[in-house]
Amino acid sequence: MRDVKYVFVTGGVTSSLGKGIISASLAKLLQARGYSVTIQKLDPYINVDPGTLNPYEHGECYVTLDGAETDLDLGHYERFLNVPTSQENNVTTGRIYQSVINKERKGDYLGKTVQVIPHITDEIKRRIKLVSSGNKFDIVITEIGGTVGDIESLPYIESVRQLKWELGAQNCIVIHLTLVPYLSSTGESKTKPTQHSVKELLETGIQPDVLVLRTERHLNEDLKRKVALFCNVEESAVIESVDVSTIYEVPIKMLDQGLDNTVLRKLALPIESEPLLTEWREFLTKLKNPKHAIKVGLVGKYVELPDAYKSIAESFIHSGAVNECEIDVVYIHSEDITEKNVSDRLSGLNGILVAPGFGSRGIDGKILTAKYARENNIPFLGICLGMQCAVIEFARNVLMLEGAHSTEINHKTKYPVIDLMEEQKSIIDKGGTMRLGGYKCVLTKNSKAYKSYRKIEIIERHRHRYEFNDKYLNEFKNHGMVPVGINPESNLVEIIEIPDHKWFVGVQFHPEYSSTVVNPHPLFVNFVKACIG
Ligand code: GLN
Repeated sequence: MRDVKYVFVTGGVTSSLGKGIISASLAKLLQARGYSVTIQKLDPYINVDPGTLNPYEHGECYVTLDGAETDLDLGHYERFLNVPTSQENNVTTGRIYQSVINKERKGDYLGKTVQVIPHITDEIKRRIKLVSSGNKFDIVITEIGGTVGDIESLPYIESVRQLKWELGAQNCIVIHLTLVPYLSSTGESKTKPTQHSVKELLETGIQPDVLVLRTERHLNEDLKRKVALFCNVEESAVIESVDVSTIYEVPIKMLDQGLDNTVLRKLALPIESEPLLTEWREFLTKLKNPKHAIKVGLVGKYVELPDAYKSIAESFIHSGAVNECEIDVVYIHSEDITEKNVSDRLSGLNGILVAPGFGSRGIDGKILTAKYARENNIPFLGICLGMQCAVIEFARNVLMLEGAHSTEINHKTKYPVIDLMEEQKSIIDKGGTMRLGGYKCVLTKNSKAYKSYRKIEIIERHRHRYEFNDKYLNEFKNHGMVPVGINPESNLVEIIEIPDHKWFVGVQFHPEYSSTVVNPHPLFVNFVKACIG
């Protein structure tokens, strides 16, 4: 059995340079060369997980099949690799401290002073190794959140330094991602911030093995040589990451510069074959050569920050490509939609998606949107709260249950068509207590959902507390909104449809979390088909 090899990805100069995409791209190339790879994200904040964070703070909260609420970068990892991630793939400072403090209370360190070094760093190292326990992977790529020099990330960087020393240079390498800004006034790309950032990393005892330079413009060989010389890195290990039109092109750009070869060589791993990227390249060709074009409205309350709906946006890219269709996703603020302007706001759209969410802000606009899509026969996909809004709307305007609502928004409603699940009623803690992760769902034959999945039983990921209230099931059925997906264990309604409508589907789960480049989600694929018409 081979030793597990570790690649760490750190960031310098500024945040948001795309460490997640570089990590995912490298992983893709290594996977395409036959290695089994996983990617882990270490986040320096004190929240135990991002589940309690407002999307405005940190973008979408991504959910794994095993029910972890995680950083959105895990979504990129899955979309690139087509391999599910799990609880172990995202670790926060909060989680690290929580385990150490729990151990301290149990008396595991009896008599000792518990300190950042060695106790916190040992726990970090344990978590890094845990992701590949049982030798599931040949290579683990670990992305360290934040920027080198941040107070919060110091224990992580120190853990990497220790691991490098413990495991040896051939088993553990560091890729440092920095920015080379372009100064238009002088027409130059500047390397100084990169030099400073590498110095900062050196101060913590780490010499990076590979440098990836984010840049707006191509960097010439002289500049790369200069960076290599001043930062003590091989010339072939200085890689540029120039802005591209789609993140899915980054693996190809990295391949062209031999990032995968450099990494494998440094890790003393054999480079046996050319990477197998046929499906990936086919996807890119389709993405870039669309035959159709549609406009889809995404109605939500976090639209100022598109990262809040990252997985939905990416699902549209995957499903657009298979359908050879360019999708213009129009972000529409649900708070801006009123009874008066709804038809103006939503006119000209080929399809409408109502987004997931929590709480009452913008809910009326979402309900009005569902009504507009239903009455005007516009393809509609409601996800989680989006599905619940479609149910509320139907109850009010078709079943004539005035004031019908979800008890999340109005706990005194006379008609609680969406209500808290029994097992949720006694829970008061907010963190990690929702219905989370994969649950089975059995589909009704001939439904639009069945025609999309083309199988009876599916597993989809959840993140919610409220449910369709069974008490009203018959009334809905009798009036033309039918359940077509049921959880076989709990009997909960998972999917509703209006068979008389062109394409009207509401799902209690989150299809967007499991759409990948090589496996675009069937519901998105068929929704887009319906939008094309
Ligand atoms: N707020 C709703 C619930 O908890 C929907 C959640 C969601 O859209 N993810 O049930």
